[in-house]
Amino acid sequence: MNRRIMVAGNWKMYKTIDQAVALAKAVAAGPARQGLDVLLCPNFVCLEAVVRAVAGSHVQVGGQNLHWQDEGAFTAEISGPMLRSVGASHVIIGHSERRQFFGETEKTVRMRLAAALRHGLKPIVCVGETQAERESGQTDDVLASQLAGGLAGLSAAEMVKVTLAYEPVWAIGTGLTASDEQAQQVHAFIRAWLAARFDNQVANSCGILYGGSVKPANAAGLLRQKDIDGALVGGASLDADSFLGIIAAV
Ligand code: PGA
Repeated sequence: MNRRIMVAGNWKMYKTIDQAVALAKAVAAGPARQGLDVLLCPNFVCLEAVVRAVAGSHVQVGGQNLHWQDEGAFTAEISGPMLRSVGASHVIIGHSERRQFFGETEKTVRMRLAAALRHGLKPIVCVGETQAERESGQTDDVLASQLAGGLAGLSAAEMVKVTLAYEPVWAIGTGLTASDEQAQQVHAFIRAWLAARFDNQVANSCGILYGGSVKPANAAGLLRQKDIDGALVGGASLDADSFLGIIAAV
């Protein structure tokens, strides 16, 4: 099964419009590679400018979140139709910072996922355990419950449109990275979970990205693992040389 590789930059709450455009242009000037998707997820304010900056290049653009309703009295929220109208192709759902600081639950992940699929946005659903959960041996249980809740009731046809991202919370923005073996072990667990919940074909078609302090120096080792299909990059995506360095390591 030939799964595509993706290197995605999650810019979080960084960059003003001028900074975002400069970074996006620098990434778009980098090499396009067969079988590799390059995705940038800027803040909502910068989305339109980044879409314009990368127009005609190999670089795709996504949102960092979306609301489950199409419109309504939900101050400060952004919907699927709005993301589509600005030219976004992807959307991140259930990032651990959303879970940690903004009350995201399995249920809201599932509702956002439904909205993304309804509007033809390609979802990247994030899962991952905290340090305390890992240390107490609960990693598999936590992931299984995040997957079961976040993907509840999904059909196989819907599942193959979803990319998953395994992001151990203890490795995000901390400089700590899961070792190649630790990451591979969890990715294999997730793929086995998909095979049991759906079937082997679904499990083998779904991309599973790794995220958590990915840098040019550790990207090659992680991306060589057989169940790791790319990287969701935070800090190192904010600098063109670092992000292009990760792409070069694929
Ligand atoms: P990091 O963030 O690369 O800064 O650890 C990854 C993420 O949160 O997606």
